[in-house]
Amino acid sequence: MADLTRLIRDIRASCPGLTLLENEPLARHCSFRIGGPCAALALPASEEELLDLCRILRQAGQEPLVMGNGTNLLITDAYLPRIALRLGEGLSRAERRAGNVLYAQSGATLSQLAVLAARQRLTGLEFAHGIPGTLGGALVMNAGAYGGEMKDVAVSIRYLDRELIPRETADGGFSYRRSRFSAGGELILGACLELAPGTEEAITGRMRELAERRRASQPLDQPSAGSTFKRPPGAFAAALIQEAGLKGYSVGGAMVSPKHAGFVVNTGGATFRDVLELMEHIQNTVYRVSGVQLEPEVRIVRE
Ligand SMILES: Cc1cc2nc3c(=O)[nH]c(=O)nc-3n(C[C@H](O)[C@H](O)[C@H](O)COP(=O)(O)OP(=O)(O)OC[C@H]3O[C@@H](n4cnc5c(N)ncnc54)[C@H](O)[C@@H]3O)c2cc1C
Repeated sequence: MADLTRLIRDIRASCPGLTLLENEPLARHCSFRIGGPCAALALPASEEELLDLCRILRQAGQEPLVMGNGTNLLITDAYLPRIALRLGEGLSRAERRAGNVLYAQSGATLSQLAVLAARQRLTGLEFAHGIPGTLGGALVMNAGAYGGEMKDVAVSIRYLDRELIPRETADGGFSYRRSRFSAGGELILGACLELAPGTEEAITGRMRELAERRRASQPLDQPSAGSTFKRPPGAFAAALIQEAGLKGYSVGGAMVSPKHAGFVVNTGGATFRDVLELMEHIQNTVYRVSGVQLEPEVRIVRE
């Protein structure tokens, strides 16, 4: 605790302009609305600020909890003795580059980028319009929907390696809901997305159609972290959960959405433990009924 107090003091001294919220409840920063206070949450507003902060953390041997929009995270509701780092609005610049390329900083949201692409008459990002994350989080997760994935469009990724050296790679090491960044330790700064020429009308029409499909099938009015489990080979997690009779099943404030069995929703006041217990119950029941072992897609932050 004394170490963290000293660390926070050092951060304030070395990064005077940085927004640093002490004891900030992380429930406010993730879509599940679950998460206890962390020692401090930093909201860097420039790459320089981010780099200065990372240097201090590295010197102190502190691994930060990196967050984008917090839409794929389930965070403990106990006190988190760590510095969290949210890459959002302050690092969300996006622009068109030569050819059919968009460059964006990692805190840009996918919906912001899909709208920019439509305005620039560039097609290929419509699938991402309704995914509520940032570019950084989407690259880590190789987020995808309706037949598209980040790996289809990301042609170059800028990141800080473990030694905080800025690097660029064309190889994201992507596979289903994974990338070379999934293991943590490297920080995505931004990426170039290569798209193709299209018409604004067709692009926005497709985005509207996909938004309608989402609204019709997903519980968008309740806090969640999207699909709780990954799609197992040759099957759909939601179908297996539904077949196991778990639609509407709840533990405390956590419930398998009656609208979409692939989503665990927070019906109000769900605790970290409620969600974990429900997830375990789903895994055990699905395994008993269908012999399939479901693997979490949601990233769980225990400490
Ligand atoms: C209603 C709803 C619908 C969803 N629909 C979909 C969908 O259709 N398809 C899909 O794939 N997902 C979906 N999701 C899940 C989620 O939106 C995606 O996984 C998204 O890409 C996560 O982005 P984020 O910015 O919120 O990342 P976070 O949840 O904040 O973080 C995810 C991971 O990325 C890491 N991270 C974040 N930013 C960086 C960075 N700059 N550098 C290094 N590491 C970083 C974090 O440490 C964490 O490990 C949905 C979620 C919700 C709530």
